[in-house]
Amino acid sequence: MIDSEWMARGKCHDLPRETFYPDSSVGVARARRICARCPVRETCLEYALDNHIADGIWGGTSERQRSRLQQERREHSVGRTARSRAS
Ligand code: SF4
Repeated sequence: MIDSEWMARGKCHDLPRETFYPDSSVGVARARRICARCPVRETCLEYALDNHIADGIWGGTSERQRSRLQQERREHSVGRTARSRAS
């Protein structure tokens, strides 16, 4: 079962869905400002990363930012595995 209780507490809960699927940099900035004040921002970001959600603004991050975070986490994980094998 997916724990989505936190979604009801998000600042976006009563806003139009399109707000978080912007098609311009102005729209991205607007959505990110809303996320910056959201009490569940970290949970939202982790949810998007865990579920490999590519589209939209989640946890105050754009698609490109989440892709970069995923890459950094993969690299960190590979480095940690290599270090543990070497020891
Ligand atoms: S961080 Fe942004 S997208 Fe996530 S729940 Fe909050 S307002 Fe919605």
